Amino acid sequence: MTETKTLIKIDRNGSKHYEGMVTCDRCGGRGGSDAWEYTGYTCYKCGGTGRVYKKWIERTPEYQAKLDAKRLARLEKEIAKNEELRKEREAREETRRLAEEQEKARIREQKAKSQHVGNVGEKLDIEATYDHRAYYTAHIGWMEQTIYIHTFRDIDGNALIWKTSSTSLVGIVDGDKVKLRGTIKEHSEYNDEKQTALTRCKVEKISDEG
Ligand SMILES: [Zn+2]
Repeated sequence: MTETKTLIKIDRNGSKHYEGMVTCDRCGGRGGSDAWEYTGYTCYKCGGTGRVYKKWIERTPEYQAKLDAKRLARLEKEIAKNEELRKEREAREETRRLAEEQEKARIREQKAKSQHVGNVGEKLDIEATYDHRAYYTAHIGWMEQTIYIHTFRDIDGNALIWKTSSTSLVGIVDGDKVKLRGTIKEHSEYNDEKQTALTRCKVEKISDEG
């Protein structure tokens, strides 16, 4: 059995559409192989004839070049778009990194500025800004208790800490102005910041943040 090739049509691009029987690409035209002795000698793709039906297109070099150019243009556009996206991503990342650094620098500066307030045992009655809270779970025997660490700042930016299990500060958020009363318990240093620890505090909100 020989190969056949029949021209079906020529389209407006000059591409020639063919169909025909061509050499089977599985068995190479031999119709079978000893390598398949356990699964059956005969090639299942061509049924042993060594030829298979195929349709294909042969393009003129000019049209092929046009298609290649189009594909290349598409590819270049895609690459350019990806590059643009990558740059945007990098710019966003850089902005985020800078903001993070600025915030770190601000916190470092704030910490460096903080000084101890008053003397241990003294009572304090001041206006302060509620800075932030942190909390952890303490285990007392088999009991679990949430301990809040409230940080305030006085007008000079000094850090005042109140560690308590009291939930009395619910409703007070970072930045709120408060009236803070308490007793100075200890002068300490934590994470490169001088802190004044208070005890038995009373906190009243004066105004919302800002
Ligand atoms: Zn075959």
